[in-house]
Amino acid sequence: MPKLTQGELTQLGTSFETQSPDQLLRWAYDAFGSRVAVLSAMQKAGSVVCHMVSQLQLPIPVVFVDTGVNFQETLDTRDRMASQYGLKVITLTPEQTMEDQTKELGILYLTPEGQQRCCHFRKTMPLLKARGQFDCLIGSLRRSEGGRRDRVPILSVDPEMNCVRLNVIANMPNEDLASYIDEHQVIINPLHAQGYTTIGCNRCTTPVLPEEPPRAGRWRHLGQWSQYCGINPTDRDGGTSKSIDLPRDVIDRILLGPKGDFMI
Ligand code: SF4
Repeated sequence: MPKLTQGELTQLGTSFETQSPDQLLRWAYDAFGSRVAVLSAMQKAGSVVCHMVSQLQLPIPVVFVDTGVNFQETLDTRDRMASQYGLKVITLTPEQTMEDQTKELGILYLTPEGQQRCCHFRKTMPLLKARGQFDCLIGSLRRSEGGRRDRVPILSVDPEMNCVRLNVIANMPNEDLASYIDEHQVIINPLHAQGYTTIGCNRCTTPVLPEEPPRAGRWRHLGQWSQYCGINPTDRDGGTSKSIDLPRDVIDRILLGPKGDFMI
């Protein structure tokens, strides 16, 4: 099968820097049709992307990984997104309940190595069930988050899922995100108002103090060891993955770029 390389995507991604999120979402639907989905953990940036999709009335589904130990507020946010924005939400789940996993392997998330395994079992592997269904996953990673995301590309390859990752709000500053939420009264996970700057599983997420870094509440019990779960490949490898395999016609549509911005 023909290869789509990170180099080709980086070139296209550079031309995407001046495109609005709406333009990028329309491009994604034109390029990938029914083979594109939003990947959201039901945090505020993901909610903004879901709101944009619903406003554009694009029939793009939302993929949510339910680890079995999400906060109830997160599950409620997912359900509100589906009912109030009319979005189709696809929920993926791990093979084992947390109870069964703990019986078999112990409490994994208490050590850095165990956390990596637990996140792999409960986040990455459920997402891999959707491998082959989608050629593009739309995310909501932003450079303003800092840390490993301070240079997150708009476009990258995800060899594990064999798909393109598209971060439509990669260059949206925190202030613009907040303004968008206010202006459109976006449905937001209520935990954000309780000091949770980012939100993952209930076992591994705490609120943060105003003077702490935004991700200080993730795996706090592990100190500085862990700040990312690995479900987003650019958090792991900084965008150094090389290529994915896609049909020639899909690659051609991708590299054509947005309508009206023809690239030779
Ligand atoms: S965030 Fe914690 S509980 Fe959730 S999958 Fe990762 S290690 Fe397991």
